[in-house]
Amino acid sequence: MFVRDTNTRSSLSRRDFVRATGLGMAALAAGAARGPQPVFGGRPQDGLLVRGGTIVTAEDRFRGDVRVRGEKIVEVGPGLAPAGERVIDAEGTLVLPGGIDPHAHLTQAEGGPEKYRFADDLTSGSEAALAGGITTIGNMTVPGQGQTVFDALERDARFVGEKAIADIVLHPVLLDPSELGLQQIRELADAGHTTIKIFMVIASFDQYLREYVRVMRMAGQTGILSLVHCEDPAIIAEATHRLVAAGKSSLRYYPGSRPLSCEVIATQRAIAYCEITGAPIYVVHLSAAEPLRICRDAQGQGLPVYVETRPIYLHFTEEQYEQADGPLYVGQPPLRTPEDVEALWAGMKDGSIHTLGTDHVGWSKAQKMDPSLSIEELRPGVPNLQEMFPMLYSEGVVRGRISLQRFVEIIAANPAKLLGLYPRKGTIAVGSDADLALWNPDETRKIELADLRSRSGFSLFEGWEVTGWPRMTIRRGAVVYEDGEIKARPGPGQVLSCGPTQSL
Ligand SMILES: [Zn+2]
Repeated sequence: MFVRDTNTRSSLSRRDFVRATGLGMAALAAGAARGPQPVFGGRPQDGLLVRGGTIVTAEDRFRGDVRVRGEKIVEVGPGLAPAGERVIDAEGTLVLPGGIDPHAHLTQAEGGPEKYRFADDLTSGSEAALAGGITTIGNMTVPGQGQTVFDALERDARFVGEKAIADIVLHPVLLDPSELGLQQIRELADAGHTTIKIFMVIASFDQYLREYVRVMRMAGQTGILSLVHCEDPAIIAEATHRLVAAGKSSLRYYPGSRPLSCEVIATQRAIAYCEITGAPIYVVHLSAAEPLRICRDAQGQGLPVYVETRPIYLHFTEEQYEQADGPLYVGQPPLRTPEDVEALWAGMKDGSIHTLGTDHVGWSKAQKMDPSLSIEELRPGVPNLQEMFPMLYSEGVVRGRISLQRFVEIIAANPAKLLGLYPRKGTIAVGSDADLALWNPDETRKIELADLRSRSGFSLFEGWEVTGWPRMTIRRGAVVYEDGEIKARPGPGQVLSCGPTQSL
């Protein structure tokens, strides 16, 4: 039986986590109250026939039709005859698998201080995702004060039942490695969890290193993928201390507080743990050329090292922090140089980067621009669920940096495999969930706040002109987004039960 751990170490780690990441402030509030039972509303339509589009998967690209019954794809091919279902004319559109954002923050423990509440929750986050061609979101599930990993999972499952429209993968966030023995790890795997999130950036990481490594080994043995935040807390502490002592504590100096060496050393160590344990690791939000080179070398040696990057590192550089609105761009790690941006695009092209995750945090503009923030007190993360894949399509596919096939691999097939969901998710095939995103590949438009569904009230991408835009999104057979409108109410999103992580 699982025993709740409420010792000092647990709360120490949690404080470290809050200090180091700026996330989970609200999670410091009291544990989850028991709310109403999940309400699952909304029904897939009786059937759909998506006709005449260009179907693109990671393996294939052809003109054809997709027939949907209930939540599933039942037929794929050219010239399917209508059989009384709703016919969707997909002429001139790309029919893609529903996108998967493997990394977002849309939940918090109830009752936290107002100033640390995200503007987005699972409803507005789902709406933004669906409007951006995403049907599945991986959500970081952070334990609140006195909560175990299992308490937090139960809490977020309830939120999903009440609020989500997209399907949700819950990533258990491990703040106290002593919580998990082999039996608990097996319990997680049996309950359909295929990941565990580890923060090397928290100050207590080194203190409990032996236990973290033990958890990674056991995770690997049970088909669970360790998601690792690779930044070194000692380097951050020292660099921050020196800047503050020199009177440079404003966010203008943010990059200097987390120098590249801090990501490099942590990435090297994470790979060493992968090597020693044999457990697969997934480096979240990799930001620069050098850590990518290190990961690519490890991959070349046959180590199961998977890499996620993030839109802000593909589209912006550290000069942004010198602008008046610089604080809006604060994420962990910081933005890097133009050379790093090019290296990341090259990594997406050559396959050493496997996924793109938003690390979406729905802070409001006022929260991000709060003058009390400094390099010691952050609100990291940005809203970008809706913009992520249109930006990747426009800047990546349209500009010829990645192929359309690679695009589909990054947005759907790779995350589905790593999360143990393939081929239920991540492809267009008979028997797969009918998660489809219909894209107008030639539509050129300006990203405008009025079109965005996040409640954060700002976008780093406002004013960017993009080519390619999702026109319709179908989640498990239900049209949930069409021509600018959300067609579903909160509730029908599901917590996905995942199988073991699959290697790429
Ligand atoms: Zn994150």
